[in-house]
Amino acid sequence: MTDFVRSFETGSMEDKDLLGGKGANLAEMTRLGIPVPPGFTITTDACRHYLSTGEVPPGLWDEVAEHVRALEARTGRRLGDPHDPLLVSVRSGAKFSMPGMMETVLDIGLGDASVEGLAAQTGDARFAWDSYRRLVQMFGKTVLGLDGERFEDAIDAAKAAKGVRADVDLDADDLRALVGTFQRLVEQGAGRPFPQDPREQLEAAVVAVLDSWNSDRAALYRRRERIPADLGTAVNVQAMVFGNRGATSGSGVAFTRDPATGASGVYGDYLPDAQGEDVVAGVRNTLSLADLERLDPTSHAELLDIMRRLEAHYRDMCDIEFTIEQGRLWMLQTRVGKRTAEAAFRIAVALVDEGVITEEEALLRVTGDQLAQLMFPHFDPSGARSLLATGMSASPGAAVGAAVFDSDTAVRMAAAGTPVILVRRETTPDDLHGMVAAAGILTSRGGKTSHAAVVARGIGRTCVCGAETLEVDTRAGRFTTHGGTVVHQGDVVSIDGSTGEVFAGEVAVRPSPVVRYFEGSASVDEGGPVVAAVDRLMTVADKHRRMAVRANADTAEDAARARRFGAEGIGLCRTEHMFLGTRRTLVERLILAEGPDERQAVLDQLLPLQRADFVEIFEAMDGLPVTVRLLDPPLHEFLPDFTELSVKVAVAEATGAEHDTESLLLLAVHRLHEENPMLGLRGVRLGIAIPGLFEMQSQAVLEAAAVVNERGGHARPEIMVPLVGAVEELRAIRTEIDEAAERARLTHDVPLEHLVGTMIELPRAALTAGAIAEAADFFSFGTNDLTQTTWGFSRDDVESSFFSRYMEAGILGVSPFETIDPLGVGRLVRIGTDEGRATKPGLKVGVCGEHGGDPESVRYFEERGLDYVSCSPFRVPVARLEAGRAVV
Ligand code: ADP
Ligand code: MG
Ligand code: MG
Repeated sequence: MTDFVRSFETGSMEDKDLLGGKGANLAEMTRLGIPVPPGFTITTDACRHYLSTGEVPPGLWDEVAEHVRALEARTGRRLGDPHDPLLVSVRSGAKFSMPGMMETVLDIGLGDASVEGLAAQTGDARFAWDSYRRLVQMFGKTVLGLDGERFEDAIDAAKAAKGVRADVDLDADDLRALVGTFQRLVEQGAGRPFPQDPREQLEAAVVAVLDSWNSDRAALYRRRERIPADLGTAVNVQAMVFGNRGATSGSGVAFTRDPATGASGVYGDYLPDAQGEDVVAGVRNTLSLADLERLDPTSHAELLDIMRRLEAHYRDMCDIEFTIEQGRLWMLQTRVGKRTAEAAFRIAVALVDEGVITEEEALLRVTGDQLAQLMFPHFDPSGARSLLATGMSASPGAAVGAAVFDSDTAVRMAAAGTPVILVRRETTPDDLHGMVAAAGILTSRGGKTSHAAVVARGIGRTCVCGAETLEVDTRAGRFTTHGGTVVHQGDVVSIDGSTGEVFAGEVAVRPSPVVRYFEGSASVDEGGPVVAAVDRLMTVADKHRRMAVRANADTAEDAARARRFGAEGIGLCRTEHMFLGTRRTLVERLILAEGPDERQAVLDQLLPLQRADFVEIFEAMDGLPVTVRLLDPPLHEFLPDFTELSVKVAVAEATGAEHDTESLLLLAVHRLHEENPMLGLRGVRLGIAIPGLFEMQSQAVLEAAAVVNERGGHARPEIMVPLVGAVEELRAIRTEIDEAAERARLTHDVPLEHLVGTMIELPRAALTAGAIAEAADFFSFGTNDLTQTTWGFSRDDVESSFFSRYMEAGILGVSPFETIDPLGVGRLVRIGTDEGRATKPGLKVGVCGEHGGDPESVRYFEERGLDYVSCSPFRVPVARLEAGRAVV
């Protein structure tokens, strides 16, 4: 017998690879003695077999049949029994939870005969026909791929014909009629009748769940969440329990703490007389757990007890799905719950305070991405605002945009550059692309556990849900407030995901309290509980981290800001802006200079200007290292555009105006034109081609350092030569730099330290690092260019041209410009570091470039033993946190 199926009784939470998250946690709850309807899991092995061959593994259906027999024996019911049928659910469940992304079919096993048996056996015809209509509907939509709207429309028509609003107002006869309608829809749409054989239903549902792994929305979700595409899903088959058996039954979802804010205390939504997704789909407005306590105190007490046990067992906030069938409580799912960034920080710290986890574990419970989210702006409370409605605070942030009422329009308008707020009555998994494109999401139905809320939190979008006073008319493209205000498609609205407020027009935004805290403009106490939690965990991260974190900063202002954010130096100070603005004419003259004397004259004019810039930067970074990169970009970037200049010269010629300078410039532009400027005259090549240029820059740096030191400061200049590919290049420039340093030491009577290093941004530099290290005091990996030169990808073009195709095809999981490519670029980083240090033990090695602020890349650089990462000032706290997380 093959082994592709496991009973819930044999697994545990450790088996997520094989059983998926849902299956492993169902097994774990079973093991803990928590009431879980019995069932079994078809493993991810079976799915992988199916995905690679297109067939289920041989023997799978026999094995399933055997487990169904065991389930029948346990429950005392038989699948398809016309008198007392066993019904099951077929549920997807991958290793990493993908809420709402894949399929589930409930009430499998009903047919025209057994529905009568179920009605007679339970004495509840309404319940039996409600279950049957759910089955035909879900089977039609999910398994047969029919348009779900058709079924919804039929339900709406039935309600309208009867003059009722809620699904619970349809009685047994109405539902029986609906089943007839649904079966006709199935037959028309699929070309064959709804299958009556329960085994056929079961097998088809299992295959549909397997197929749903590769649905568009699941694939999109995986790419966003960086979940590997080849993991596959498990399939859970579970005896049904019924929340749709009248007023003493119901379904709910709950969190052991508030997933939006992280505040202590359980949080949940409950819907009486409802099954499955009803509670999150917003078919009716839900009740709170406090309401449940009044309705059914016994079940409520048991539920709270189980939630306490689960949180203690998982040592983290859990979310759960439960159903009450005629006063009896059943748990249908649990997992460590998704949460907002704010909640992640607060919960982690609360669990430390409660003695549940250590500080180090708490650090692992938050991420750099979450910290980055907390640094987003908020609405200005003193700004003008006109409140339209208040819903639930489902996912924090402040979002402003044009109201749109369908996802395709949201995508289109966002792509055209207009920020949008997606407004829906409720969202469904089909809205994922619109939610991703939108700045924020607003719904009029559903609680904090609704689809809109869960997905928005997952993808970091601001969301207000359940704004019940809004009448949303998606077809007409408008919503109407309680007071009668009408907001049309395209009108701007502002939503506050932290308070649930919805405002007309644009509300001013202000910086996040976390940013104010980092900047030192607000104290921890002023920042509230989130800032307090961030402060705690930053302290833990700083205590543990080995790598230093520096900032990329080109001006004194940026340097000062970076320092407030905790930067321990500048890892990359670009000097190109020092050649822009009014200094452009000097650069033009430098390029046009005839002979060394004229060139020197221009350099002499540039020198004091640059020196003044560096003085400011060294003062802002007093006592900390500052890596100054000598001029890197190709010179033509500082010259006028070729076409414009040609026109100017032509016009001047025609009118007989004076145009000597323009003509000379035009010649120079022509001479300097390159087909491939990124591979042309730039970096160290410029320094060698234009004698005196790098020497002047070095002199400016070193004299500035001397000036600062004379004033009692402590400048620590590190001069960095870009785009070196051979040690000879570095040697030639190093001589100039060291001479400039000697001169500065002679003219200023103060101690003056300086280092000379190089960027490693060409594969050849990494491959010959052992030789280059002989002439370098430090290396800094310029991973942006190194990625470009290693892959041969133009970083200015590829992300907007073919990368999306590469991602869809699974060739790239993530852009290598965003997260370091460990196999290729990372290998060069390793070779460069190891061989450089083999020549010069203790060689200082860092990274500058976008990767220095990317959480996953920071972890990689820690593993490679780099001394520091350098990133934009705003990312410095993120890098500090991640560098700490990488070592605990
Ligand atoms: P998802 O992963 O999208 O949440 P689930 O497999 O959890 O999908 O199921 C969808 C809904 O159906 C959930 O509300 C779940 O609690 C409910 N459900 C699943 N299996 C059963 C069952 N055996 N009895 C009653 N309700 C069920
Ligand atoms: Mg689902
Ligand atoms: Mg679920």
